[in-house]
Amino acid sequence: MTSLMHTYNRLPVAFTKGDGAYLEDSEGKRYIDALTGLAVCGLGHAHPAVTAAISSQAETLLHTSNLYEIPRQTELAERLAKISGMDNVFFANSGAEANEAAIKLARLHGSKQGIKRPTIVVTDESFHGRTMATLTATGNRKVHAGFEPLLNGFVRAPFNDISAIQHIAENNPEVVAVFVEPVQGEAGITIPDAGYLEELRGIADQHNWLLMLDEVQSGNGRTGKFFAYQHTNILPDVVTTAKGLGNGVPIGVCLARGPAAELFQPGHHGSTFGGNPLACAAAHAVLDTLERDNLIERAAELGDRILKGLNTALHGNNRIKEIRGKGLMIAVELADPCTELVAKGLEAGILLNVTQETIVRLLPPLTLSDAEADEIVAKVAGLINA
Ligand SMILES: *Cc1c(COP(=O)(O)O)cnc(C)c1O
Repeated sequence: MTSLMHTYNRLPVAFTKGDGAYLEDSEGKRYIDALTGLAVCGLGHAHPAVTAAISSQAETLLHTSNLYEIPRQTELAERLAKISGMDNVFFANSGAEANEAAIKLARLHGSKQGIKRPTIVVTDESFHGRTMATLTATGNRKVHAGFEPLLNGFVRAPFNDISAIQHIAENNPEVVAVFVEPVQGEAGITIPDAGYLEELRGIADQHNWLLMLDEVQSGNGRTGKFFAYQHTNILPDVVTTAKGLGNGVPIGVCLARGPAAELFQPGHHGSTFGGNPLACAAAHAVLDTLERDNLIERAAELGDRILKGLNTALHGNNRIKEIRGKGLMIAVELADPCTELVAKGLEAGILLNVTQETIVRLLPPLTLSDAEADEIVAKVAGLINA
């Protein structure tokens, strides 16, 4: 028993240090980390560039609040705008908060047009966070249970189903935005058909909706582009990210383009900690390192290597339903529940995740060597083939 609220079923292991793709526990045992704290430590653990940036920032100034100018925040906003094709950035501290900002933007977009009940289209199996609005947007009945009443102003469609969205567009004049993950993460790395985002863009344009993408998990280079929508030639109106941006220092961002970028005015939204000097120092170091070491192209290359390796090593195993991935968002879907693989992985010295009970999810660091990528393949295949 501990004094912690029981929000997580924790595994009985505590890590005392990390180094690149490896973690060490309190007994000195080493593990390869194919999860990176849920797509957070994309540069691996204790990355020297992040360590140096936050150490030096901590020696100078940690926090002043957004009542004053924060030059490193302004510079980070410019960098992120350039990377994304967006115009303006709002800084928050987590994925859920970044998504709250997006949801508020959608509602302002609607209320400015005199729409009384601005409604956002969200999808089944999605995950957008645990605050009341992001929980409502999340397409999983289990996480809603006990927390009703949920918010008004959301309608749901199956993911990767354009005709369902079209049906909503034809029947609901109060819709103001569509909000989706370009690759669904918690759902088990669900990759939509080619053309899905382009078709959503078309419908959004036709009906004056905002196209809003949740790249909290898929952003920051993980899929082989900085943002997953950059595999297409469309731009969203709003995009959020968080997880990998600070390599472990909490930071979330909501970026917007065109009229959506001008919606928030003083008094509309805010955050005490959002974009503070420490978080911005970490994010600058992450962007510097992604660029300097070409880690985004490397993520694509590593993803191909791991997918190929898994396909070979698991060939002929009839437990396998599908092996899929986009860069370093990788899933091995089994035909039967496999939650025991998490604990078995710990025994075997690998951290991995099982989502939806049957899907092994891998979100390893973008800094893996070929040998480390092969070690992940060998360990995962060993566990599944055992
Ligand atoms: C993790 C996640 C969130 C929530 O982020 P938090 O930082 O935990 O609030 C939102 N959307 C997606 C797609 C995520 O993967």
